[in-house]
Amino acid sequence: MRSRYTAFVGDALDYLKATWHVTTRPLTLAPDPVTQWKALEIVDAPAPTDDEGHVHFRAYFKEGERWQVLEENSRFVCEAGRWWYVDGDPRLHRLKPGRNDPCPCGSGRKLKRCC
Ligand SMILES: [Zn+2]
Repeated sequence: MRSRYTAFVGDALDYLKATWHVTTRPLTLAPDPVTQWKALEIVDAPAPTDDEGHVHFRAYFKEGERWQVLEENSRFVCEAGRWWYVDGDPRLHRLKPGRNDPCPCGSGRKLKRCC
């Protein structure tokens, strides 16, 4: 999960495709120069069974000056000795942090002194 987030941050499209289950993998993935991924929060990651696991996460990002959070409960399956991302239930929420609020990136600084 964390490695896939890192791949999104770095536009590592080959890695994303290589960890995406063949039944749900997009045919093409394009680099995304607009989205700036800022933080990943793992909400819950219960111990997986032998062949299925779930990770509930929130990923904070900026598009221009607009902050948003993508929240998803991702489903992974284990096949041929490897874990594959299958799907999730992505929900987008707009964030409206004030200039004096903590930065959503998790730095601990005020937004006006951070991202
Ligand atoms: Zn920040």
